Amino acid sequence: MADGESIKADLHIHSDASHDCNEPIELILEHAADIDIDAIAITDHDSIENSLKATEKASEYGLIGIPGVEVSTADGHLLALGVQECPEKGRPFHETVEKIRELGGLAVVPHPFQRTRHGVKKSDIKDCDAVEVYNSWSFTGWKNKKARKFAKKNNYPEIAASDAHSIGMIGQAYTEINTAFAEEEFEAEDVLAAIETGSNYMYGKRKPVALSLWDYGKALTKKTVWLLKETVLLPLGIKKYFNRWLD
Ligand SMILES: [Zn+2]
Ligand SMILES: [Zn+2]
Repeated sequence: MADGESIKADLHIHSDASHDCNEPIELILEHAADIDIDAIAITDHDSIENSLKATEKASEYGLIGIPGVEVSTADGHLLALGVQECPEKGRPFHETVEKIRELGGLAVVPHPFQRTRHGVKKSDIKDCDAVEVYNSWSFTGWKNKKARKFAKKNNYPEIAASDAHSIGMIGQAYTEINTAFAEEEFEAEDVLAAIETGSNYMYGKRKPVALSLWDYGKALTKKTVWLLKETVLLPLGIKKYFNRWLD
């Protein structure tokens, strides 16, 4: 949980409910906690089940869980954070923004203008609650810079997120949120409120390469152990002995 006066939130992470990712939620939660991320949102493509499960389990790992989904609108991808159900896919961008608000969530535009990744075009974004101005998939950083400029010009709050499709990528970018104003325990609603107002959060950046590599190494080890348990030991019926040995 939060130490000091800020928490790190990675609010755009995929799990094995996404067609392009095969990480189970337990492994994601374990790794996020291990690398000192405080709050996470699993945002699968047009599927919210894993996100709801992860939100429920998050506290077991000392994490704040925020439910969410990455909706495929007719105009590109749109994150719905803080919703309990998945807005219908294939609807126009602005209709989906309204739907997300009706569901009590925030409509955050991920990887804007990255057309090869289904990012929404600039001309299509007339209204939203926040913009992802740092997505760790932008290799040159050019599209992130454009996104940040766009958010500043239009006064949209900004977030940074990993858009992780494998556990090694979790936390490669994150949003840092001041917790100093919270009187008691910081919760999911506080994270969402901080983003919505744009007033109580800082924009986190990519981690230094050495730290990223260290996290990546840890992730690889966890994944290898998990695969060993699931594919070799589970069919042999000896997983429980292995778990006991690990504990
Ligand atoms: Zn996307
Ligand atoms: Zn994504």
